[in-house]
Amino acid sequence: MEMTFAPEHRAFRDNVRAWIQSAMPPRIKAKADVDANFTHEEVMEWHRVLHQKGWVAPHWPKEHGGPGLDATSRFLLSEELELAGAPHLSVFGLSMVGPLLMEFGTPEQKQRFLPKILSGDEVWCQGYSEPNAGSDLASLKLAAVDDGQGHFILNGQKTWTTYAQYANWIFLLARTDAAAKKQAGISFLLCDMKTPGLVVKPFLTLGGTPAFCETFFENVSVPKENLVGPLNGGWTIAKALLGHERTLIAAVGLSTRALRRIKRIATSTLIDGKPAIDHPGFRAKIARHEVKLEALRMANYRTLAGAQLGKAPGPESSILKIRGSEIYQQCFELAMEIMGTDALEWFNEPGSVPALEQWVPSAFNYNRATTIYGGSNEIQKNIIAKHLLGLPGA
Ligand SMILES: Cc1cc2nc3c(=O)[nH]c(=O)nc-3n(C[C@H](O)[C@H](O)[C@H](O)COP(=O)(O)OP(=O)(O)OC[C@H]3O[C@@H](n4cnc5c(N)ncnc54)[C@H](O)[C@@H]3O)c2cc1C
Repeated sequence: MEMTFAPEHRAFRDNVRAWIQSAMPPRIKAKADVDANFTHEEVMEWHRVLHQKGWVAPHWPKEHGGPGLDATSRFLLSEELELAGAPHLSVFGLSMVGPLLMEFGTPEQKQRFLPKILSGDEVWCQGYSEPNAGSDLASLKLAAVDDGQGHFILNGQKTWTTYAQYANWIFLLARTDAAAKKQAGISFLLCDMKTPGLVVKPFLTLGGTPAFCETFFENVSVPKENLVGPLNGGWTIAKALLGHERTLIAAVGLSTRALRRIKRIATSTLIDGKPAIDHPGFRAKIARHEVKLEALRMANYRTLAGAQLGKAPGPESSILKIRGSEIYQQCFELAMEIMGTDALEWFNEPGSVPALEQWVPSAFNYNRATTIYGGSNEIQKNIIAKHLLGLPGA
């Protein structure tokens, strides 16, 4: 099936593509060309470039400083950024707490927080998961007790708090009513990371990224004006946010780029004196991935067509999350396969392997997580069984 965009959308895409190439600072472009990991500083540098252009938050409405793009243009902008290998901006402010404040926040909260999320002056992290509350998030225990003097006092721990070491603020779920049924006693709070008693401990992953932290709270005082939505009404907000997180994870542009990289690696890798890309067995593997990716692209377009007509993504975002994350992982499995022994070097030193291969093992390891975060794929299957297939007992 051949699908094309309307002429104005094609023109927009060309414009975005050209702009990215001219606007990317040389240091970032050099890294993007070989799909290297970006530092936090580089990510924030790119954030500011996009902010200046007005494209840092494609999905934000004009009244809050967004560009007011329609659903298709938003999609095209995100896809072109992925295809160019540009740094991924932190999603916690722009795509999570920002949209959520627009929907549930007070006028004062919107005015206080949204402009600084846009400008990148304040970086956010997400405090949902705890050591014994991941998939079963409603089991969370972080306690927030009303001190009767305008504050909640927080005690407990969060874990897997991505990039908490760089964050100025954390949005979190806390238990404000210990006696209520699990979901009913949870509230959504915003907490300044500099508050006394809040301690962040980063840890390294197997992939070599210092991405995660444990975050501890000991008598951390949060003013009541930082409660978002009603007291004990945090579960509704948490669910609204997770649905959005899942649609972000289909990442067709990222898999498309990963496949391109595999082809480039396979062109310069010789098997029995012949480029790997010319071997029928290997070509068939690439073709299988391309077919799967094309099917995902079509499913994405279907959701997009709904969004263009104003339909919010429902449980079908779980399908996009499952397929998107699996295909992305499979791309890196194929890249590792074609690299042969080069793939055995966990942290490749610059120059020890071709530049295009240097970051593959690290990305391979990191991307094992795509089937876990945003709600694991098993949990997504439960959602599909219950809400799309209507299976009893699911
Ligand atoms: C890269 C990465 C980044 C993350 N960033 C953040 C972050 O910034 N902030 C944050 O709050 N959290 C974050 N998380 C945590 C993430 O949300 C949790 O890892 C996820 O919800 C799963 O929880 P868990 O790790 O406790 O696994 P568990 O819930 O213990 O699950 C273990 C296994 O059991 C399966 N399972 C569990 N329950 C069921 C069920 N009912 N039916 C079928 N199978 C089931 C799961 O699929 C999984 O395979 C991140 C995780 C990763 C990997």
